[in-house]
Amino acid sequence: MRVLGIETSCDETGIAIYDGERGLLAHALHSQVDLHAAYGGVVPEIASRDHVRKLIPLLDTCLAEAGCERGDIDGVAYTAGPGLIGALLVGASMGRALATALDVPAVGVHHMEGHLLAPLLEPDPPPFPFVALLVSGGHTMLIEVTDIGRYRLLGETLDDAAGEAFDKTAKLLGLGYPGGPALARCATDGRPDAYRFPRPMTDRPGLDFSFSGLKTHTRNLWAERRDSPGAQADIAAGFQRAVVETLVIKCRRAMQETRCGHLIVSGGVGANLELREALRRAGEKAGWQAHYPRIEFCTDNGAMIAFAGYHRLAAGETEPERIFARPRWPMDELRPPGEAASR
Ligand code: ATP
Ligand code: MG
Ligand code: FE
Repeated sequence: MRVLGIETSCDETGIAIYDGERGLLAHALHSQVDLHAAYGGVVPEIASRDHVRKLIPLLDTCLAEAGCERGDIDGVAYTAGPGLIGALLVGASMGRALATALDVPAVGVHHMEGHLLAPLLEPDPPPFPFVALLVSGGHTMLIEVTDIGRYRLLGETLDDAAGEAFDKTAKLLGLGYPGGPALARCATDGRPDAYRFPRPMTDRPGLDFSFSGLKTHTRNLWAERRDSPGAQADIAAGFQRAVVETLVIKCRRAMQETRCGHLIVSGGVGANLELREALRRAGEKAGWQAHYPRIEFCTDNGAMIAFAGYHRLAAGETEPERIFARPRWPMDELRPPGEAASR
């Protein structure tokens, strides 16, 4: 079965074709970063309009790369949520229209299930059960995964997501947008222990996170020290170290509690090299293994949607002929492929 994946939940237009036997055949991505940079963040209407412009050309690129035609598609998977409603509707409308025209089934995919399954696209994927650390622009969650669609939330952020904390901190340090990669770059010139940073919520039991205090701490520190030489890089390095160590402490705890041997890390912050290295070392010490998607599949992409959708469509899951989009969609509403989900 050959599934077309469409991702338009935010500011990346992603298209991919996944084949059940041959794996990922092609993927194409257009990032809108340049369009939104001047505004310091994503402008929803600009995002929707750009998805409209880019989807069909990307689809054609992807089909050419895969060496197939529209008629070779056996099913369509599109991101149905969570995300920006206008942006979601563009992908959902195209996905549904294409499926109807080709007379193939379509399925609306949960964006975070896409992120969660992305590491399984890599060679040597981890066996179930595993723990997933999802760290993206809008989410920070630890989830116990016993199978596709069987997710138990272990902990989540009570305020800002990890990626959001990177973005906001980068903005206040004057590092521009998007903040995560810019802050990580700046941190390479800094000393992570030049200033003291808190490790929020690590002094009490539990697996929840909170990053807004860390951001406030950074803001105050920056106001105090902004004229000191090297302060920008030192603060960036200290902030990054604090986020990474906080995530590592909670992951260690989650692995201990669940006794799982495998951790997968996904979402945009999963591209952070310091985090990847720190988790690799923590796992090596404690006897579990960390798995990641390739860097480009940490952030939004069509491949993860094609892959997640493939598993649902291959299990016979379909949906009524309608355009399905949900800006909010709690992950605990998901069911294993083929079992009726509440929509
Ligand atoms: P969600 O998936 O929760 O809906 P999103 O789709 O906007 O949110 P992603 O595309 O998964 O999020 O990831 C984008 C986030 O990842 C941004 O907050 C960005 O700053 C962060 N990010 C990307 N690369 C890095 C990096 N190297 N270090 C830290 N953060 C990073
Ligand atoms: Mg993005
Ligand atoms: Fe995402």
